[in-house]
Amino acid sequence: MRPQDILMPVAAGLCCKPGGFHIDPVRPVERAVITHGHSDHARAGHGAVLATQETLDMMRLRYGDNFAGSTQAIRYGEEVRLGDVSVKFHPAGHVLGSAQIAVSCNNTCIVASGDYKDAPDPTCAPFELVPCDVFITEATFGLPVFRHGDAADEVKKLLASVALFPERAHLVGAYSLGKAQRVIALLRQAGYDAPIYLHGAMEKITHYYQSRGIALGELRPVKGVKKAALAGTITLAPPSATSDLWTRRFPDPVTAFASGWMRVRARARQRGVELPLVISDHADWDGLTATIAATGAGEVWVTHGQEDALVHWCRSRGLQARPLDLVGYGDEEESETPLQGEAEA
Ligand SMILES: [Zn+2]
Repeated sequence: MRPQDILMPVAAGLCCKPGGFHIDPVRPVERAVITHGHSDHARAGHGAVLATQETLDMMRLRYGDNFAGSTQAIRYGEEVRLGDVSVKFHPAGHVLGSAQIAVSCNNTCIVASGDYKDAPDPTCAPFELVPCDVFITEATFGLPVFRHGDAADEVKKLLASVALFPERAHLVGAYSLGKAQRVIALLRQAGYDAPIYLHGAMEKITHYYQSRGIALGELRPVKGVKKAALAGTITLAPPSATSDLWTRRFPDPVTAFASGWMRVRARARQRGVELPLVISDHADWDGLTATIAATGAGEVWVTHGQEDALVHWCRSRGLQARPLDLVGYGDEEESETPLQGEAEA
């Protein structure tokens, strides 16, 4: 069986005809298999959803109880038979509960990795290398200019700034699902044990992380805290909040933003970011190329991001490669969808 007979891109997403399902469909389908909880991958309105317990819980938090007709939780390493194929989930190291989905049929194995990173993250299971025939990779940071470096060093920069400006508040823009909790965990790893303040839109998902056993130390809602009391403190907020009127409640705030895009100075300037922190939940160029090589895949399908350079790199290494041209996958580092029922606070 040819790989494209097992998985093929259609308008709704990546379709597995012999298995009767779509992976991360962008339109409602009968059966969806979902890699992780970010809103461009996990949408409401499908008939049946197969995903990790964490991804299902995040979908429930965002969309409410009736987000799908039915749900089935699957653990890492567990195999499920769907139609003529078998499906196995492996950690993707992207956010809590994120998975690569290995689809096997006869002797062919295709791994759809969703979003992934090979860098360490104290808030989720580490990326697992899955040998396969075809590897489907993201390309969010698929250009050689993107090298993220060590996230711990970026957090040291933040703490140095807090020490330098004790009279100012530090406001860190970070995506609510995954990035914010990772920044908090990295601050704790660096020895920062003061309370960390949260924008209202971060509370629900952050408390969910804590309920899954992720240690984040003492967290407080920033709502209702007096301006003067926020001097010398750190607050996590969605990126959109760090540039609006909401910031007036902070004393002379230092605006930081945790994103892989902060490698590009113009982006930081454009956003008015005083303290750019290069912290990404996606693999950088070195991570992408090292991972592709290590899977042993002879064929690589490249999707959502900067496909061209990565396709070129694969071909120069003698691998078959093509862009998948899937539509509808954004970049959660740039956008922000608040969870259901959460007021701006
Ligand atoms: Zn994602």
